[in-house]
Amino acid sequence: MPGATPHRADLHTHSAVSDGTDAPAGLIRAAAAAGLDTVALTDHDTTAGWAEAAAAAPEAGVRLVPGLELSTRSGGRSIHMLGYLVDPGDSALSAEMERIRLARRTRAESIVARLAADYEIGWQDVLAQAREESTIGRPHIADALVARGIVPDRSAAFSTLLHPAAGYYEPLYAPTPLDGVRLIRGAGGVPVMAHPATWGRTGSLSFEEIEHLVDAGLAGLELHHRENTAEGREVLGALARARDLIVTGSSDYHGSGKPNRLGENTTDERMLERIVEQAHGTEVVGA
Ligand code: AMP
Ligand code: ZN
Ligand code: FE
Ligand code: FE
Repeated sequence: MPGATPHRADLHTHSAVSDGTDAPAGLIRAAAAAGLDTVALTDHDTTAGWAEAAAAAPEAGVRLVPGLELSTRSGGRSIHMLGYLVDPGDSALSAEMERIRLARRTRAESIVARLAADYEIGWQDVLAQAREESTIGRPHIADALVARGIVPDRSAAFSTLLHPAAGYYEPLYAPTPLDGVRLIRGAGGVPVMAHPATWGRTGSLSFEEIEHLVDAGLAGLELHHRENTAEGREVLGALARARDLIVTGSSDYHGSGKPNRLGENTTDERMLERIVEQAHGTEVVGA
């Protein structure tokens, strides 16, 4: 319809149930205030925020796509796999998420133990920054360092003490990207590789490795994300066209924990429809 406002969908956000700073309901209200029609909640390795977000969505007038961002690892690189509309009760996926969350906790404890040798910080400081059910990550350690006045903000913590080169870092257990794709598909969900083109920055998979994941069921690529390089977008854009992949755009909003703003990148309505068509694990809320 000429003149109609385009549908605005942001398909990658984090609440305080992982490492964002807004409660799920607050995130939904923030999405409405940002003029979004649809928002996906994609907390790291958990679906625990879905119920609160779903309860808030109708009144806010926002459609909710329940999702998650699964941690995976390949050759020392951390690869994030978005999973949309999975069945949250799927036993293989929920067992793996539980395993990752436990490993995250142990890993965070040992990073904090190393930091404690040089700084006034302890595990209680980190727990004070997280909800009981939160998926613990370096952001919570960062917040504890900020609360102790050791660094000015989260981003400063990431570029200094929490950077792998600083000597306090420890890698995270995670399944392979191939297992991630299979687990999400196995739970009736739609796997989309998050920020896939960060080459030269945080490292990513090669073109060939991504092609291999497409053969195994990877449905799409989050090409419109602030951390993707221009070169990477171009190369993977060609792959997306050649293999008819779903292409998404998102903010990766973390509340006040990161500069990313809701709706700074959005996903075309047709691409969102393709995600919904391929999913059979759960339904969009407010569809
Ligand atoms: P981890 O998964 O524990 O290694 O921590 C990495 C996570 O921290 C990623 O998901 C980032 O999105 C998140 N994060 C949150 N806030 C920031 C920030 N200000 N700078 C860098 N990463 C951040
Ligand atoms: Zn995060
Ligand atoms: Fe990510
Ligand atoms: Fe994310």
